Amino acid sequence: MAETETATSTNEPQKMEFQTEARQLLHLMIHALYSHKEVFVRELVSNASDALDKLRFEALTNPSLLSSDTELAIRIKLDKTAKTITISDNGIGMTRQEVIENIGTIARSGSKAFLEKMTGDQKADSNLIGQFGVGFYSVFMVASSVKLVTKRAGSDEPAVVWESSGESSFTINDAEKASSGTDIVIYLKEDESTYAEDWQIRSLIKKYSDFIAFPIYLPNDKGADEIINQTKPIWKRPASEITSEQYEEFFHQALGGFDKPLATLHSQAEGIMEYSSLLFIPEKAPFDLFSMERKHGVKLYVKRVFIMDNCKELLPDYLRFVRGIIDSEDLPLNVSREILQKNPVIDKIRKAIVSKILGRLKEMAETEPDNYKKFWQNFGPVIKEGLHTDYENKEKLLELLRFQSSNGATSEDTVSLKQYVERMRTDQKDIYYIIGENRSIVEKSPHLEVFKSKSIEVLYMVDPIDEFIVPDIYNYDGKQLKSVTQGNLDLGDLAKEEKSAIKKAESKFKKLSERIKNILADSVKEVRVTTRLTDSPACLVTDENEMSSHMEKMMKAMGQEVTKAKPILEINPEHSILANMNARYEKDPKDEDLEDWVKLLFDQATIAEGQMVADPLAYSKRVNKLLSQVSGQ
Ligand code: ADP
Repeated sequence: MAETETATSTNEPQKMEFQTEARQLLHLMIHALYSHKEVFVRELVSNASDALDKLRFEALTNPSLLSSDTELAIRIKLDKTAKTITISDNGIGMTRQEVIENIGTIARSGSKAFLEKMTGDQKADSNLIGQFGVGFYSVFMVASSVKLVTKRAGSDEPAVVWESSGESSFTINDAEKASSGTDIVIYLKEDESTYAEDWQIRSLIKKYSDFIAFPIYLPNDKGADEIINQTKPIWKRPASEITSEQYEEFFHQALGGFDKPLATLHSQAEGIMEYSSLLFIPEKAPFDLFSMERKHGVKLYVKRVFIMDNCKELLPDYLRFVRGIIDSEDLPLNVSREILQKNPVIDKIRKAIVSKILGRLKEMAETEPDNYKKFWQNFGPVIKEGLHTDYENKEKLLELLRFQSSNGATSEDTVSLKQYVERMRTDQKDIYYIIGENRSIVEKSPHLEVFKSKSIEVLYMVDPIDEFIVPDIYNYDGKQLKSVTQGNLDLGDLAKEEKSAIKKAESKFKKLSERIKNILADSVKEVRVTTRLTDSPACLVTDENEMSSHMEKMMKAMGQEVTKAKPILEINPEHSILANMNARYEKDPKDEDLEDWVKLLFDQATIAEGQMVADPLAYSKRVNKLLSQVSGQ
């Protein structure tokens, strides 16, 4: 800090220059930032609250600092005509030396970090300040000058007055002040006079400082002082004192909830980490749950001071529907998003609350099945994202999954993996699933025929995200997940008797299979007989390692280039159509009708997959030819 006059222990008036970094910051405040100016209220009120905290703390060892009838408080006075705001506290106050050190330089690591982060892009920079504030200097966004009068508690030194217009220097002088604490008089710039309006200050206090631990007084219409904040926030009170109506009220008023929460989680952590959390699991999904601009619902407070909405660092993306507040005692007030991203305190809080939320969901699933059903309908797809991103909690997430299945009569009937395993046939090894667009398509799929006939349950994966999470689930309770449409169907012990039947059918249909393969050479990779089918003559399967037809369709819908993998055509040797075709083939291997029929079989199997046939015109021509043959008989 450069001084225009030397000695700092003097009682003389001094004019001093701000330290270089402080000057840079002030310059920015005054000349470059035009948005989020209102945060100066939050910053000054929180400084006042800190000063009160410090006094209370020092009074623990020096009780004379605090007489028993002093109420620690913040008082705000507005003068519309003079366009001033005065914010006073009866806290610790500052000595002359402290004023110079604290207000004349950038002591705060937050401000330094802010300067480092500055991009020079005004819009981005003013956003930074809106989110984090940079302390006392933010007042110069609205003030043409500021006067600070302060007296240090427990010190014999005289009170001091500090004044500055925020340009490059400040003055400091002795002052008269009877009691300890600090008064800050803000002389508003001409076009910022709205901040001297009563309603404006009330609404800013509500927004940012409602839950400061000390009362904030403002005179009312009749000139009597009135407390304008809630001094004890609901999350700091013991859960036993709060009714469910009060929780709901808070959920609506403070968190923008619009329904009745399905669950409320309220707790105070003490010990190595101190924080309070009040979280709600809503019943209904917000409109932006899947939009790119989606918001997280958690607000961060530090020591009861509001820091930011939408705090992504506190909860993983897949829990973005949770609404609530976290109030940490361990973070600095000037914490920035960059700091949050790699902050060990935040990491620990996040871990603890994720585990709490997942635990609560498990409990809901077990003890409040109707609520869990509602939850799953709205948030199931989001929870599934967690399987892909939160490996640490995979086991817990697996227990939360619910699927429709071939055992359920409607889409309302769902099954957990645990239940599925419990009701598996004793000779069943794997967990079977079918992926498709919706229930009515998959439930009619020819692939399910053999499972129905053997009463094996098949999970219906009909949520677009399901295809992506299957590899993340991979196996459950030692049982592998197997697609009923992919790979060679191996029902293991379930299909012992069929093994020899298949062998026989293979040799019986060998020639016909070859002929079919020839006809469909451009469209299929292989033709083979199967036991998978009971009612349908044929179906398509994809190789285990290839993209499933459903995935292919989704990729196309997303505008992705896909090289189409050729499917395998499986034929049902028990079906009369195949038996007839085989007989025709044996009579005349060159029979021309065979070609049309094979192509029809293939197209039908394609349609059963929910896909378009490659050449609809050719398909309908063949159907018509068949119809005219049949109808003419
Ligand atoms: P921060 O509050 O984050 O440290 P500020 O720029 O807001 O940063 O304030 C700088 C310092 O000035 C504070 O750390 C504190 O020591 C002192 N200060 C500011 N306001 C007051 C006040 N009302 N009473 C006592 N000290 C204050």
